[in-house]
Amino acid sequence: MPSELAPLQIACPSCDEKGCEFCDNEGWLKITQCPQSEFEVNMMEFLELADFAKQGSFPIIGGTLDQSKSFLTACRFLWSEEAKAENQEWSKNNG
Ligand SMILES: [Zn+2]
Repeated sequence: MPSELAPLQIACPSCDEKGCEFCDNEGWLKITQCPQSEFEVNMMEFLELADFAKQGSFPIIGGTLDQSKSFLTACRFLWSEEAKAENQEWSKNNG
């Protein structure tokens, strides 16, 4: 699990490490704790919310900018992990 002492860094999926508003121009996101604990819902609830968010339906009424940053960070983290898993699956089948 990531922590303050051993943060997990992932390339910002928004800007591809170029720096943008979402990542505070860092080009990467620092995860210092379990994405789940960042906003105190259980993992199943989060996965459900993230799934809705992926389809454009966010838990808070409004657009992407109205969502809490921690929720978006957690979503992005989840989606990048999902994409990685999909890529691995793809290379397995096509490599
Ligand atoms: Zn960025």
